[in-house]
Amino acid sequence: MATITNHMPTAELQALDAAHHLHPFSANNALGEEGTRVITRARGVWLNDSEGEEILDAMAGLWCVNIGYGRDELAEVAARQMRELPYYNTFFKTTHVPAIALAQKLAELAPGDLNHVFFAGGGSEANDTNIRMVRTYWQNKGQPEKTVIISRKNAYHGSTVASSALGGMAGMHAQSGLIPDVHHINQPNWWAEGGDMDPEEFGLARARELEEAILELGENRVAAFIAEPVQGAGGVIVAPDSYWPEIQRICDKYDILLIADEVICGFGRTGNWFGTQTMGIRPHIMTIAKGLSSGYAPIGGSIVCDEVAHVIGKDEFNHGYTYSGHPVAAAVALENLRILEEENILDHVRNVAAPYLKEKWEALTDHPLVGEAKIVGMMASIALTPNKASRAKFASEPGTIGYICRERCFANNLIMRHVGDRMIISPPLVITPAEIDEMFVRIRKSLDEAQAEIE
Ligand code: PLP
Repeated sequence: MATITNHMPTAELQALDAAHHLHPFSANNALGEEGTRVITRARGVWLNDSEGEEILDAMAGLWCVNIGYGRDELAEVAARQMRELPYYNTFFKTTHVPAIALAQKLAELAPGDLNHVFFAGGGSEANDTNIRMVRTYWQNKGQPEKTVIISRKNAYHGSTVASSALGGMAGMHAQSGLIPDVHHINQPNWWAEGGDMDPEEFGLARARELEEAILELGENRVAAFIAEPVQGAGGVIVAPDSYWPEIQRICDKYDILLIADEVICGFGRTGNWFGTQTMGIRPHIMTIAKGLSSGYAPIGGSIVCDEVAHVIGKDEFNHGYTYSGHPVAAAVALENLRILEEENILDHVRNVAAPYLKEKWEALTDHPLVGEAKIVGMMASIALTPNKASRAKFASEPGTIGYICRERCFANNLIMRHVGDRMIISPPLVITPAEIDEMFVRIRKSLDEAQAEIE
């Protein structure tokens, strides 16, 4: 069998890929004709493809490569750990140093009394853990009828059947259905759904939907509310300032667990270690993944407060993954956290990258296609519109103009995603001002070209 390498002609790699590889979130039959781009290597914020192009990755992969590509330290740690102990599990009264050290470090970094970690292979698995964990918590407290988890429409909590049901993506529900006892309220997306309300009034109204849902479903039935501090895959939807304090008040009043899905917002993305710190909320459970290892190894988990850990620990918790706390992934994650900490990457975000990005990002509203521009730390979105004043939607099928814009970015060697007709970025946290300048040259060129294409 011929060895497949980076040195093969692109067309041959594309043909083999089309013949055998099913891609996530893709219409695979069309991919063969459209052609996939073969990424061969990466450094810092830059990707290379098999045609020798240099691409600026304004998405940090899938929102995960927080420390940037090409850090040899992580490769060395992985190799060392593979030689010493490539695998062992943490079931049945065993443990190992990478899992101990990573759990201890996460307890130190997490706010409040979030002191306990249950590891998973990624964010979807961690949210499945959370479903079982909150239901077990209420069972062990003698309130087994508390099973309902309230989530939000357009939220993304993962791709397993349970985590996608927990999420609020209509297209995913259409393909695999819901699971019992999950309820969705509306998202705080003022631009698209705020009508005539001002943003703060709208934020309060959307938060109060949580209270209405609790009263409708029955206070004695609601176990938890789950949300991303900033909705990421839904289009970087930043709630109005009035939203989160009201959500916190309602969770406190009705004694329901608050789960913050920090898979995107965690590990510096919003300028703090966790997005809940940026939003000023106090979760009982945080879902983590992505930036935990900067994507260098697949790992996720749930960080849990003292009370929840104590209550679920009363009995056997019938749950666990072969790769929970995988020693190589845990060692890589620990090294990633060391780099984030010792290189003061959060200070770089707060004092250099995020303020500079914000100034330039908000200035994009001078472009005729751009309505609102939203940004928190190093995650940002723009809404494309044919009429800024009325916040109008395009007459075309939703997502058509966003897709055109994304394709222009791709052709200009810039990775930027579209969610419907919103364009989003989430670059590596280590991006420099000069690289931000280069990113904006490409963004503006792509927006101009998209506008010319639709005129
Ligand atoms: N939760 C959020 C907020 C996410 O953005 C994602 C992935 O994008 C997930 C969960 C699922 O994580 P994973 O893809 O690691 O399973």
